[in-house]
Amino acid sequence: MKLSCLFCFACLCMIAMAPSASPQQVAITVDDLPSHGPLPPGMTRADVAKSILGTLRQAHVPKVYGFVNANKLEQHSEEIEVLKLWRQAGFPLGNHTYAHLSLNDSSADQFDQNVADDESALKSLMGHQNWRWFRYPYLWEGDTLEKRHAVRQYLKDHKYHIAQVTLDFEDYLWNAPYARCAEKNDATSIEWLKSSYMSTAAEYMGVGQQMAKLVYGRDIRHVLLLHIGAFDAVMLPELLDLMKKQGFKFVTLEQAEKDPAYKTDPDVALKDGGTLLEQMMEAKHIKFPQNEKPYDKLNAICR
Ligand SMILES: [Zn+2]
Repeated sequence: MKLSCLFCFACLCMIAMAPSASPQQVAITVDDLPSHGPLPPGMTRADVAKSILGTLRQAHVPKVYGFVNANKLEQHSEEIEVLKLWRQAGFPLGNHTYAHLSLNDSSADQFDQNVADDESALKSLMGHQNWRWFRYPYLWEGDTLEKRHAVRQYLKDHKYHIAQVTLDFEDYLWNAPYARCAEKNDATSIEWLKSSYMSTAAEYMGVGQQMAKLVYGRDIRHVLLLHIGAFDAVMLPELLDLMKKQGFKFVTLEQAEKDPAYKTDPDVALKDGGTLLEQMMEAKHIKFPQNEKPYDKLNAICR
């Protein structure tokens, strides 16, 4: 890391750690229900869900949407338990396509059909409550404008809200390394996973807030993306504590997306997709803040 980057990082941390006068609002959302990533020995999908739900309840996080890929139940019908636990906790479910479909690798029609295929599970679990919130898999909203427009039109015609994301530190990257390190009983490596998860989370909260100011000239109500993984379950208490210390107040997805920022449409074709803020940065040709994640070490650890 260059000295200038170190300086940027220090500034970001200071911005991230300073409690603001008016609480910074954030909605927590969880993707890939009922299952994401490998499990460490002795842990079940229901354990992961119970742990995450317990932490959310304890921190008084309201109405957390869990985004479902119902095709996972074809192979593992027992994982319906996760969706039932989510509902028993009073939390809603939303649509993440039936098979976690990549819009880059499918046509708009195939994608729309996959959205529709997810609905019967949502209807049976949600009853009359609103499940018409949609989260794009991989945050890929269309690698051509034609696809982007066609899918957006389909979602609009079927009364979906797009569950945008503004804070994303790729929490999922830590789940497979954790399962490997737990298998090897490698406590030193697990400590590094914990500290790097937290430092990356802190850095990217700051980056998100910084990008909001660059795009909208102010900070906005945020939406954080997490996944239903084993290491997410382990780290969630510490993560929510950090967010409280940073001055975040937890609100619902509906409350967060009342912010006028969510009415903006970047209207760009992107292969790599991204959060609403990242897409807006691309659309407005704004230079991205410097940041990095420990991809190589995560990939190599506990092999
Ligand atoms: Zn996903």
